Amino acid sequence: MGGNELKYIHNAFDTNWISQYGSNIDEFENSLENYLGNNSHVTALSSGTAAIHLALRLLNVEEGDFVICQSFTFVASANPILYLKAVPVFVDSEEQTWNMCPEALEDAVKYCIQQGKKPKAIITVALYGMPFMADEILQISKKYEVPVIEDSAEALGSKYKGQFCGTFGDLSVISFNGNKIITTAGGGVLISKSAELKSKTLFLATQGKDNEEFYNHSELGYNYRMDNIAAGIGRGQLETLEEKIIQRRKNHDFYQELLKDSENIELFSAPNSDFFSNYWLNTIILKNKLSKEDLKDKFSQNNIETRYLWKPMHLQPLYNGCKFFGNNLSGTLFDTGLCLPSGTNLTDDCRLRISEVLEDEIH
Ligand SMILES: *Cc1c(COP(=O)(O)O)cnc(C)c1O
Repeated sequence: MGGNELKYIHNAFDTNWISQYGSNIDEFENSLENYLGNNSHVTALSSGTAAIHLALRLLNVEEGDFVICQSFTFVASANPILYLKAVPVFVDSEEQTWNMCPEALEDAVKYCIQQGKKPKAIITVALYGMPFMADEILQISKKYEVPVIEDSAEALGSKYKGQFCGTFGDLSVISFNGNKIITTAGGGVLISKSAELKSKTLFLATQGKDNEEFYNHSELGYNYRMDNIAAGIGRGQLETLEEKIIQRRKNHDFYQELLKDSENIELFSAPNSDFFSNYWLNTIILKNKLSKEDLKDKFSQNNIETRYLWKPMHLQPLYNGCKFFGNNLSGTLFDTGLCLPSGTNLTDDCRLRISEVLEDEIH
């Protein structure tokens, strides 16, 4: 926590807005709109998953519709497709950013069209904070007129060609879950490009109550609004964002220096200066004989937590039988990758302990 979170929470208590209304929510949304720029209209919600669900609803996704989704991601990117009984079509990653491969995406769009149904949406992800190939993906979206839902749950503060992640999609999502770069404990936002879409989002997120004096409902809504306490935490956290990005990028610099000459361990880094990552997590790929299980065990023995990369959706039992386009690069990444300690509070002492574990494995 940065310090001002409690001040904003007290503000909610003092004004008695312990509710899904209140000034913390308004201020949190306004601050994010100012930060992101690009005509962003932000709606604060109870989670990033809820935001993806509402994005699909705003695009009128219905039972049996195709929705294309990046395979290499956390399961929350894809699950809302199933909430709506739509049909996920998964797309592999490319090597430079590990995000959606534009060629495989085009194949997937063509497949859907051949099946007689244009996909309703493309869910593309900025995984581990790395921006995706926005120019290429948006060009395909435009060519086939299929809207993009940008899942930048992990990528607040990341930029592509100077533009913030969260502003590329027709609809975009950022998460404030406890594990993300800044948090509201649980929370997320949906970012749209018009006041009209924001008000439709708000309508769906607050039980779909019609504009009447009485409780009249003609559409199915949800209880998905962020509350005024969580938004208070978010206001305080936003004030610390720049500092946290600097810290995370310093972690990356540390790993880069440590691993720069290694033949056995490759640090995943931005392909060029168009891609500015918040480096939410630092990830490595193991080469030669080193196994992810052995290295993870070795870290554990030294009381250091590491994690495997996300297991791609096309390999998940839950999504067994779904159509997949690509060469299984994401599967290879899952087989050979590891996430290293990347918190904003990583001390020099922590770094020393990490280098001691990695030392024998570098060459
Ligand atoms: C965290 C995350 C989500 C879901 O966000 P929640 O706020 O936890 O619901 C979606 N997609 C990705 C890639 C995530 O990392």
